[in-house]
Amino acid sequence: MEKYTNMLINAEEAPTFEDFILLPGRSTVEPNEVDLTSHVTRKYIVHTPFISAPMDTVTESELAIALARVGGLGIIHRNCSVDEQLNMVKQVKRAESFIIKDVITISPDSLVADALSIMRNHMIHGLPVVDNENRVIGITTWRDIRNVEGNLKISDVMTSRDNLVVARENVSLDEAKALMQKYKIEKLPIVDENDRLQGLVTFKDLELKGRFPYASRDSEGRLLVGAAVSPYDYDRIKKLDKYVDILVVDVAHAHNDNVISSIRNWCKEISADLIIGNIGTKKAALDIVSEIEKVDGLRVGLGSGSICITGVITKVASPTLYSTAQTYDALLELGATDIPVIADGGIRNAGDIALAMAVGASAVMMGNIFAGTKESPGRLMTFKGRYYKEYYGMGSARAKARRLSVDRYATVSKTVDEGVEGWVPYKGSLFEVVDKLVGALKASMGYVGAASVMEMRLKAKLLKISRHGVRELSPHSIFTMDSFRE
Ligand code: 5GP
Repeated sequence: MEKYTNMLINAEEAPTFEDFILLPGRSTVEPNEVDLTSHVTRKYIVHTPFISAPMDTVTESELAIALARVGGLGIIHRNCSVDEQLNMVKQVKRAESFIIKDVITISPDSLVADALSIMRNHMIHGLPVVDNENRVIGITTWRDIRNVEGNLKISDVMTSRDNLVVARENVSLDEAKALMQKYKIEKLPIVDENDRLQGLVTFKDLELKGRFPYASRDSEGRLLVGAAVSPYDYDRIKKLDKYVDILVVDVAHAHNDNVISSIRNWCKEISADLIIGNIGTKKAALDIVSEIEKVDGLRVGLGSGSICITGVITKVASPTLYSTAQTYDALLELGATDIPVIADGGIRNAGDIALAMAVGASAVMMGNIFAGTKESPGRLMTFKGRYYKEYYGMGSARAKARRLSVDRYATVSKTVDEGVEGWVPYKGSLFEVVDKLVGALKASMGYVGAASVMEMRLKAKLLKISRHGVRELSPHSIFTMDSFRE
């Protein structure tokens, strides 16, 4: 009789990050002993479980490289042509590896100007010179040609094969390093018995390997990278799959028949790990994991993103903390907790990350926090003496217009904008931002008594907090420098 009144009165609560705190627990763990190693997909483990959102003001190759070096993972956005996205993925894969397999070369008949533009476009400093049969006949480096006439032929300026040091494929890292130090060279082409090019070792990569011991890497030592795709863009999926480690199905609502049946059509053909999202309910997780043969990770949260207005204009949302708990409950029920849950949207600080981990997240995805870094692609501007970087939602008018202009497969089934455009404070280098987050997250885990991400799930206790409590737990009764500026 009172069906609709009861529906209101008995409605479930939608817990958000702001509603909870963590209870301190008896601890034997010092913050510097905490290990944040965690899965981002079924196959890939990283040392810093932070993932950057696939947004065109957040993740392009520069940020993906920086984040992978500090142990996280970047997901290259899809607001560009397939070739542009592929190129960004390749830049990350080429950024540092022991032997680069996918070497960019030049022919001896090309001009110096061509070589300089290739080097600039691909952010590299040397090109092996090869003949029609891919045999190495020389090498040209940035240093050799930067002050040379652009219309000279490469064959006139290259270091020719007679003066070139090369190595065979079975060269070890130490042998390569010794050879390069002995002959004072920065690039070592790898050739087969017929002098055909098989790869390239660069001194910079050998040094970087030592500098970033916690970097996220594939089995060949290259940096790990993911890319976002639409579930309907088969051409993009196939092309990216050859190079990328992780594909992320990037839709606002993956619990949708068309999305599910489309993924089912191609998911078994791909070799990259597959993260599916976004989802926000236990039912969505149960359906997707039981109906799709390949699920290597779930991206969860609907409406909590800092640039998101979906919850405002549609009144449909599933806050990230709630989505995470719902999804992890589904995985427990299915006995499928090897599928990592990635909490996505609304994360403002390490405390939010700690809460997400307490209810089942293996990793977190962040847009806003990374958008403010030096490495993000957004424009930098100054206002009243402070620096800001541009940040807008992928459902904003701005992002949608860009998508339609560059991607002929993009379709817009919604007429309404679900994201806003704006600016976030500039925070400097990503390394510092990640370092601070890691420090605060480890401190949080130390208070809880959790030495690992898994222990966080087992040991953390949550307390509900009132609006007044939120105020009490923030700085109060004091004028800070920020309050004077406002
Ligand atoms: P943030 O870290 O800024 O709080 O949230 C980033 C997340 O917001 C992204 O990973 C994505 O899931 C979501 N997002 C990005 N753009 C939009 C948008 O325009 N509308 C909505 N509803 N969500 C968005």
